[in-house]
Amino acid sequence: MRAPRPLHLGVDIGGTKTLAVAVDDQGVVHASRGGNTPADRGADAVLDQAASLLRDVAGSVDEPLLRAQDSSLIVGVASAGVIDRATGTVVSATSSITGWSGTDLAGELSRRLDGATVHAMNDVVGFALGEGRIGAGIGRGSLLAVTIGTGIGGAIILDEQPVEGAHHLAGHIGHVVVPQATGLRCPCGATGHLEAAASGPGIVAAFRRLGGRADTLHDVAAGVRTGNPAAIAAVRGAGEAIGTTLASVSAVVDPEAIVIGGGALRVGAEFFAQIRASFTASAMPQLTDVPLIESRHPAAAAIGAALVNSPATELLSGSTRPTVGTAP
Ligand SMILES: [Zn+2]
Repeated sequence: MRAPRPLHLGVDIGGTKTLAVAVDDQGVVHASRGGNTPADRGADAVLDQAASLLRDVAGSVDEPLLRAQDSSLIVGVASAGVIDRATGTVVSATSSITGWSGTDLAGELSRRLDGATVHAMNDVVGFALGEGRIGAGIGRGSLLAVTIGTGIGGAIILDEQPVEGAHHLAGHIGHVVVPQATGLRCPCGATGHLEAAASGPGIVAAFRRLGGRADTLHDVAAGVRTGNPAAIAAVRGAGEAIGTTLASVSAVVDPEAIVIGGGALRVGAEFFAQIRASFTASAMPQLTDVPLIESRHPAAAAIGAALVNSPATELLSGSTRPTVGTAP
């Protein structure tokens, strides 16, 4: 009889939902628990819930399989915000989770989980690692990942390693300057950034500027479905802004593939089609064949966080990282 594979715990803490998973080395999910993030109740409530979901997941699988050789529990956590991966703290964050900025994410989660070793990372880094292991980016050593939702996030994987940068900001593609965002205020405080023009709220605002009536992206999606010219123009404008930005960034990063996810893609197939068309029209000739792949794995960030401590993924941490025993 084959020995069971070791399992890994990961949690993705988003502004609206938190998802905890236990996965094996192949990225197969053995258990998962999700819930709405109590974002308006502050960091302690959010951390309490994440720890509770992780304990539920751990309790629903053969728990010794989750433990390293020194029997410590290892957890990967992906979260919105700028994350210092060495210290596991949230350097800065938008207001999607009250009081999230400055939170000692790794330390506080470890304290709630009886001293578990916790590796923290930005959620798009988790997404990129997950897609690189089990999803659209599988088998690719370099990847540019982008998520388009309430904001626009990004991550860069080069030589199978996520790039962090001097200020923990590498990959923040939403803050590239684009002409479509001229004069528009970005949530980061500056003006003219991609996120202001092409995120979900950016698309809604563009639709309104074109005379459309919309409160949410659902309203714009409805307009796209019924052929409303303003809705289609808003979506195409955002797609063009993202596609040309991806072309520019690809010339700097030279990725094997680009993986794109996030809830704003549901505004209509025109969005992704325009991103692809504008990328192809703008990229260096050697880069026009780089595949743009739509993510189809909603748990990618949690899985990527969990697999940080997989033996096959020597990522994010130094030589002091505990190793996980592999089944013979
Ligand atoms: Zn910005």
